[in-house]
Amino acid sequence: MTKFVYAFAEGNKDMRDLLGGKGANLAEMTNMNMPVPPGFTVTTDVCRQYLGNGSLPDELADQVSANLAEVEKAMGRKFGATQSPLLVSVRSGAPFSMPGMMETVLNVGLNDETVKGLAAMAGSDRFAWDSYRRLLQMFGKTVLDIDGDLFANPLHELQAAKGYKGDLDMTAEDLRGLADQFKQVILEQTGKPFPQDPREQLNMAIEAVFRSWNTERAQVYRRREHISETLGTAVNVQTMVFGNMGENSGTGVAFTRDPSTGRSGVYGDYLPDAQGEDVVSGIRNTLTLDDLAGINKPAYTELVDIMHRLEEHYRDLCDIEYTVENGKLWMLQTRVGKRTPAAAFRVATQLADEGLITEDEAVTRVTGEQLTSLLFPQFDQASHPEPITVATPASPGAASGEIVFSDAEAVRRAGEGAKVILVRRETNAEDLPGMVAAVGVLTARGGKTSHAAVVARGMGRTAVVGADELIVDEAAQTLKVCGGKEFHAGDIISIDGTSGEVFAGAVDVVDSPAMVYVESGLEAGLAAARSDDDKALVRSLDRILTRADKAARMKVRANADNPEDAQRAREFGATGVGLCRTEHMFLGERRPLVEHVILARTPEEQAEALSKLGPLQKSDFEGIFKAMDGLPVVVRLIDPPLHEFLPDLTQLTVEIAVKEAKGEEVTEHERAVFEAAKSRHEENPMLGLRGVRLSIEIPGFVDMQVRAVAEAAVARIQAGGDPHPEIMIPLIGSGREMEIVKTHAERVIADVEKESGIKLEIPVGNMIELPRAALVADEIAEQSQFFSFGTNDLTQTTWGFSRDDVEGEFIPTYIADGVFDTSPFESIDEHGVGQLVETAVARGRKANPDLLCGICGEHGGDPRSIHFFNRVGLDYVSCSPFRVPIARLEAGRATLMESLEASETK
Ligand code: ADP
Ligand code: MG
Ligand code: MG
Repeated sequence: MTKFVYAFAEGNKDMRDLLGGKGANLAEMTNMNMPVPPGFTVTTDVCRQYLGNGSLPDELADQVSANLAEVEKAMGRKFGATQSPLLVSVRSGAPFSMPGMMETVLNVGLNDETVKGLAAMAGSDRFAWDSYRRLLQMFGKTVLDIDGDLFANPLHELQAAKGYKGDLDMTAEDLRGLADQFKQVILEQTGKPFPQDPREQLNMAIEAVFRSWNTERAQVYRRREHISETLGTAVNVQTMVFGNMGENSGTGVAFTRDPSTGRSGVYGDYLPDAQGEDVVSGIRNTLTLDDLAGINKPAYTELVDIMHRLEEHYRDLCDIEYTVENGKLWMLQTRVGKRTPAAAFRVATQLADEGLITEDEAVTRVTGEQLTSLLFPQFDQASHPEPITVATPASPGAASGEIVFSDAEAVRRAGEGAKVILVRRETNAEDLPGMVAAVGVLTARGGKTSHAAVVARGMGRTAVVGADELIVDEAAQTLKVCGGKEFHAGDIISIDGTSGEVFAGAVDVVDSPAMVYVESGLEAGLAAARSDDDKALVRSLDRILTRADKAARMKVRANADNPEDAQRAREFGATGVGLCRTEHMFLGERRPLVEHVILARTPEEQAEALSKLGPLQKSDFEGIFKAMDGLPVVVRLIDPPLHEFLPDLTQLTVEIAVKEAKGEEVTEHERAVFEAAKSRHEENPMLGLRGVRLSIEIPGFVDMQVRAVAEAAVARIQAGGDPHPEIMIPLIGSGREMEIVKTHAERVIADVEKESGIKLEIPVGNMIELPRAALVADEIAEQSQFFSFGTNDLTQTTWGFSRDDVEGEFIPTYIADGVFDTSPFESIDEHGVGQLVETAVARGRKANPDLLCGICGEHGGDPRSIHFFNRVGLDYVSCSPFRVPIARLEAGRATLMESLEASETK
């Protein structure tokens, strides 16, 4: 018989795949003798079966009964008993945390009879009816799929009619009335009464939680977070404890360190007389943990002690959910907590300082994506206007955009290219697509642990929450400042997720201290810091990046086409240029010169035209070699099809037709350009006369370009410099092509050496960007000193689609349908394109053991791809200058993670 159900005592934290994160960690805490209400977990296996064939396994009911009996025994109360009834929660919990994305039902087991037993047990009618109306509401919405407003509205109407300020004013009578109303809603909406049989409630709730794996918001979330659709969720059935039993009870969320700044010391929210979601939904503003210390010292002390134990045990920042029932503390959840990018860096180095993890592990605890968001600009403190209000900073960043009041509107306007700030009274899980679409989120209610805050931090969205001076009227589409200005949909506002400030209009931005640090070093970074938190962050960054650089096996170069970019890349820590494209150097005022090359009728004319380009190129290269003195610079010979240097054919056709119609003279030059444009026209320029094919068709380009590189090197050497140029030939598909161009290039280099009397060391290599090149890599490697993978073209030529044509077209559909989990232009398609990279490296190195291998496609700056390139043994990645710090970090992490994994499996 398969084991479908695990008592909490039977699991542990490493069983996430089977028990989900919540179940595995509840088990872990149970076994650490922490006060966890007893319960059990139905496995993700059951969910997968259920999603597959639509029914639950036959043995499940018996296994649930057996486990329920154990819980009853432990609690000394019976599920469904009319006296002291046991109630349970039925909670979702997937292998990867998906906060608020799936469903949970509380107070299962209450009915018209047991509610009286509960009242007697607690000595409070109000509490019992509050619990019952909550069950009816949650059960109706999540299990029976009834529109939540049909419950929420009567509740609000009642409070309004009686002039109540909030949920706490409702009396037992009010709540009993609501329960009656809710039962009526259920009957009307489903044609059946609310199930009075507790066991039937339990079975239905379990099934509903499994079903909630596939709610739309859960799917959106998984896509964003790259969580597989096939994992499924576990279901946790757990004894209810009650934070809504009155003043001496409450519920809260806490973190072992501040998840938004990373400051050490416990941090959290507490909401008296409340249950479950109340604390995260923002129905009332919360108290702090310090307040709890004042209200209930023993519970506070125990909580803090538990948090310390958890952090030592998990060796990381943990977040927890807890409830105080009549003064007694209960632990309801823990996990390694989500945090802001700044907190991630600070916490990593703090943990290393405290000896909980090693310095190497600290590097693996942060990501390139987190570093990316730290480099975003911030609002300029010097010039910004008075804030209209200051609220809780929940997720850092500086965002300006137009106000939208609904999830749908956010998605719509963002789709039209607008930057939007989603402004809500409070957010709930349904707002996820809107939060994804927005650049920032502003809510009038809720604390740092509110749903909006947690989700925003997880995805790096700027968020300010709990702005209680703001009155958000979603129906009227207005945002009012208490006693002040009124804003409407479409008005621009700015929010600062680090300070909590909200501004009218757009605000100037400046470099963040992290950016100043990566650009100009530690001292400058510290000087740019505007707070102690910023300073601590800059120090952590410095430690982690320094360590990553030391550990990295792969080097990081940059793609740079001019001296400024090369200089910048060097400041960011690049150790060379992996791709210098030369065709940009042919545009602007030099374009007529290229036109002459194309229009030349004789080799002499062509040589003449090329000789004018040569000196210009030479001085371009000198500047770049100077900026990269002492470091390699890979210069790629001309790559794009020639028509890119000619005016557009359609435009020319029209111009000439117009002139002829008007009887105006068409000059000989105009006609020649027109003819050339016609004859150079290609149906598929991407697959036409370009790359190495051009170098073979028009060898004069090789003469000119290689000479310019070599002469630039000579000039630098004569000026006392240390240039390291390399020549790279694009779009190679065979060994013979390589041989032709390489031989030619080497002859030119030898000529320049002879002329100048200076010995040059200029390796000649090629790009691998055609599947054929990867397959015959051995043959090519015999002619080549290095390979550089042009993964943009390699992706296009392997898949047989062109990026510009497909990116806006079907890639989104393909992602939605699960053909891709990310665009193959963003993260390398390891399975397909990656195989070609792996093959080429292996075959190339077999033929030429000294072959240096790098990558210069945009994937060179993508964290996931960098780890892949490290695995297949590349020597360096090259990426855009701004991605260099990210690539450095990820290259270090890749090496460290491989060695940490290797030592773990030993
Ligand atoms: P989520 O994954 O969305 O956080 P949870 O399963 O954690 O959902 O439950 C939602 C809320 O209900 C949380 O605040 C949680 O602490 C509370 N809760 C869950 N189970 C119980 C229980 N047995 N007793 C009291 N509160 C509970
Ligand atoms: Mg939870
Ligand atoms: Mg290319």
